[in-house]
Amino acid sequence: MRPSSPPTIAIVGGGIAGLAAAWELVKDADGGDHTPVEVHLLEAGDRVGGKLRSADFAGRRVDLAADAFLARRPEATALCHELGLTEDLVPVGASGASVWARGQLRRLPAGLNLGVPTRWLPLFRSGILSPGESLRAARDLVAPHRGDQTADDDRSVGAIVGERLGRPIVERLVDPLVGGINAGRVDDLSAAVTFPQLLAASRQSGSLMRRLAQPPAGADGLSPPEPGPLFWSLSGSTASLADSLAEALSRRGVTIHTGVSVRSVEPHPDGPSGAPQWELALQGTDGSEQETAGRPHDPPSLRADRVILAVPAGEAAVLVGPHAPEAAVLLDSIAYASVAVVTLSVPRRAIRAPLRGTGFLVPLASPIAGGPALITGCTYLARKWPHLAGADDELLRVSVGRSGDSRHRDLSDDELTASAFGELTELLDIRDVPLDSLVTRWDEAFPQYAVDHATSVGRIERAVAALGSVAVAGAAYGGVGIPACIGSGRAAARRMLDSLSLDSLSLSPGSGSPGSGASGSDASGDEPAPPELGK
Ligand SMILES: Cc1cc2nc3c(=O)[nH]c(=O)nc-3n(C[C@H](O)[C@H](O)[C@H](O)COP(=O)(O)OP(=O)(O)OC[C@H]3O[C@@H](n4cnc5c(N)ncnc54)[C@H](O)[C@@H]3O)c2cc1C
Repeated sequence: MRPSSPPTIAIVGGGIAGLAAAWELVKDADGGDHTPVEVHLLEAGDRVGGKLRSADFAGRRVDLAADAFLARRPEATALCHELGLTEDLVPVGASGASVWARGQLRRLPAGLNLGVPTRWLPLFRSGILSPGESLRAARDLVAPHRGDQTADDDRSVGAIVGERLGRPIVERLVDPLVGGINAGRVDDLSAAVTFPQLLAASRQSGSLMRRLAQPPAGADGLSPPEPGPLFWSLSGSTASLADSLAEALSRRGVTIHTGVSVRSVEPHPDGPSGAPQWELALQGTDGSEQETAGRPHDPPSLRADRVILAVPAGEAAVLVGPHAPEAAVLLDSIAYASVAVVTLSVPRRAIRAPLRGTGFLVPLASPIAGGPALITGCTYLARKWPHLAGADDELLRVSVGRSGDSRHRDLSDDELTASAFGELTELLDIRDVPLDSLVTRWDEAFPQYAVDHATSVGRIERAVAALGSVAVAGAAYGGVGIPACIGSGRAAARRMLDSLSLDSLSLSPGSGSPGSGASGSDASGDEPAPPELGK
């Protein structure tokens, strides 16, 4: 370890995972018990936040992608508290939502657990299923299922629910909800990653509906979650979390480079103290190699003792490929879905249908406006977040696109707005044109967690850990939600801090070097490879 300067940690990717990783590295800068570090965060875009983004629209600040974080998981709210944002947290302002089913918008019944009904009567009364389809679901309550407590295989969410409750529940409830969260299809999505409680319940005997009626465990994994709002945002927008985080990081000495893309990460044998390091080749996103972050004298490369890759899987594959080829193959095999968001300001008086709850979901291929629906859902933004309410309009946020449906990519912004608004007009009986509209495209934005994704992630993490001084983080691994990404970033940072602490104890001097895991990693082994020590 260089005696005179603290170790350098480079974080590639300034989305919420990368920002959270940086926070974990420096949050205790004023008196923590870990080795002080110098942190560089490198972001290809011209701003940090990645998929957290907002804009001024119709006189208000609106989120263009994530607009809420789940309260049940503690990571996002805990981070807000740490950043002093407690007073800025705003709870979701409406409850409930609807689904387009059997020719009309129908309220989702009480007692759903991620779309799976846990009470039969509200399901029956909702009208989302025909009486015969409801009776099919009721078999789960009266015909005991034997379960398979020894099975440890992952399965798709759609397969489990379809087998136990029937396909109509999959198509009209679970796919719109779980598929909607992940921009995927529940027939392909891993239950282990997207709905572990369902997988666990499916292995036990008895009714799936009754098992899922038990609330998921709280933060400690045991106790029920605390009562309170289901979702939070921040008064300045959900995206403002990234801005607040960036400010706090700068105050703690983190160097944030925007407009800088990392092109490669190569082992460098000769650090200033003779310790091996990684060399990151940087490129300004204007194509220059010299002018990074708009600062002409920034070096075209950066040396670091540790590297955290908080980028989408395809980018991570490129960066680790030369050193961990098996990880790169697995990373490359993670598919991504593209979506777009159309934000509309619509005169309130023109909307004839009642706007109940936070919005509605549209099941796959529902026939609307003369064809299979393009839209997958609509959020009544100012109902969900009352601070966004305007005097005369409603802000409607329409989502399009999912795995296997990228029709929106063939449409211009004007065509997409017209198509989405045409469908909305039919569903909400709108009698006027929008006052304003904004299309935001999120290409290749949602990682698809295929069945056995968790096994692949285990292999990726072991192969990367074998490099000794690299970690991966972000939505590609254990969940798309903001809390999961924060958790992933912070965990990666802690792994790097732990490895530096071990180094400083000189447990194994000179035993490893960046990149030495390239040939030695056994990503297919069952045991995690020990971190390489000795810098
Ligand atoms: C439309 C939409 C709606 C969503 N709604 C919600 C919601 O309501 N609630 C919720 O919890 N979640 C929501 N999500 C999901 C959530 O926003 C994302 O999963 C999360 O923000 C991803 O964070 P990340 O840091 O892993 O990745 P990203 O945000 O993708 O960040 C990765 C960053 O790495 C940068 N990068 C890539 N390659 C390089 C390179 N070579 N060098 C330097 N930088 C690089 C990119 O520019 C990017 O900024 C939504 C997502 C979308 C798209």
